[in-house]
Amino acid sequence: MRLSVRLLAASALALAVAPPVLAQDAQTIQRAQTIRDAAMRENIAMDYVTQLTTRFGARPAGSPSEQAAAAWAADYMRAHGFRNVRIEEFSLVGWDRGEESAMIMGDHPQRLVVAALGHSPATPADGVEAPVVWFNSLETLNAAPAGSLAGKIAYVDAGQMVRMQDGSGYGLLSRIRGAGPAAAKSKGAVAFLMRSAGTDEHRMPHTGTTRYVDGQPTIPSFALSAPDADQLTRLAELDTAPVVRLTSTARTYQTVSQNVIGDIPGRSRPDEVIVLGSHMDSWDLGTGAFDDGAGGGITLAAAKAIAESGRRPARTVRVVLYGSEEVAQPTDTGNGGGAYLRGVQQAGALEKHIIAGESDFGADNIYALRLPPGGQNSDFARAAAQVLYPIGVLSSATPELHGGVDIGPLAGAGVPVFGLAQDGTRYFDLHHTADDTLDKLDPKQVSQNVAAWAGLVWLIADSDVDFRALRAAAPATEAH
Ligand code: ZN
Ligand code: ZN
Repeated sequence: MRLSVRLLAASALALAVAPPVLAQDAQTIQRAQTIRDAAMRENIAMDYVTQLTTRFGARPAGSPSEQAAAAWAADYMRAHGFRNVRIEEFSLVGWDRGEESAMIMGDHPQRLVVAALGHSPATPADGVEAPVVWFNSLETLNAAPAGSLAGKIAYVDAGQMVRMQDGSGYGLLSRIRGAGPAAAKSKGAVAFLMRSAGTDEHRMPHTGTTRYVDGQPTIPSFALSAPDADQLTRLAELDTAPVVRLTSTARTYQTVSQNVIGDIPGRSRPDEVIVLGSHMDSWDLGTGAFDDGAGGGITLAAAKAIAESGRRPARTVRVVLYGSEEVAQPTDTGNGGGAYLRGVQQAGALEKHIIAGESDFGADNIYALRLPPGGQNSDFARAAAQVLYPIGVLSSATPELHGGVDIGPLAGAGVPVFGLAQDGTRYFDLHHTADDTLDKLDPKQVSQNVAAWAGLVWLIADSDVDFRALRAAAPATEAH
């Protein structure tokens, strides 16, 4: 019932504000709707994510597990009819967590639940033991006088991350993770602690990468679970200057990572490419089902649904399972996204990249489509609405400018990008924790994702829509 009301509403809207849809577009739209509905009923996304996470478990960037998973995924693509399947290797500094611990010392010792941040260096073998200095924001840490943290552990607790559908609470916490360790080091701190960037209230720390500064690692850095952060902050507020002992045996090693690339070649314009991106690597604590096995499953399944629709689209649909999205490097090479861009540039194929999209925000329902600047209020947007609105996806007035980490280098080089925004309400309960496991995926919502990707990508792939031209014609305020 709800679906038919939505269909009526979409048609009424289109009639009221849009010029009539061209006859050849009507057939393309109808095919997109048929592909969408078939993908909603049946697709390979859950099969892929189940096999990936079961066979290989966690897939840290550059680890033997990520490498083996990539080789397996290439075979999986071939078995499902993808062509030109290839693996694109690049060198990487890997990071191995080893063992870690944290303990409040003194008369009443208390064990804390922590996770070292990715690419954080080890402590000395006998650990680091020092008083904790609490900051309630990154800004107050930045304002601490030079040398004031000599021999201390800097601790930033800016409060619990705000739960938002679009995940916008993450920015403030991820900035603390990225910039906090270097800021603490510059004031003389011997280690860094932070409240996890997460929305849950469980004793599960959320890991994530730290940054290098001038190619050098910073200081041993750890995320506390939310209840442990609550506890340490209460102790700090009691003015007891709690002393904490930290150990970590983390290490880095030289390795390779890789992108896995496979095509559904276009019927009549195979040199025109649409990139569907996600990443193969995961953090080590869980099995990376939400982040980002799901993205691989959704994009592979969407491309396969298009391939099996009975008519290949005019343009090529390319799935890229990027390597090593999660980790910072001593020298920023852009990781998998950078390696892919360099390959495309060497082949002179950049201008033929029509558009790119990325699925890397879990597996819950898609609720909004963001097109490149100039795409809003276009004929294409009206066609897309007829395919996406009936499954609950609204057309956003906000243009997509950057994509995600994996397609970011393409976007930076001028390739238009789109976004299919997923409901992130519970994403940061699980993100980068031991709880990112297969059981958290809801197959019905995964299928809604596949249906949205398949319908939208078909519309782009079997048309001559030119997003660069739309962008060029957009008002300057949009196209920045
Ligand atoms: Zn991710
Ligand atoms: Zn991640």
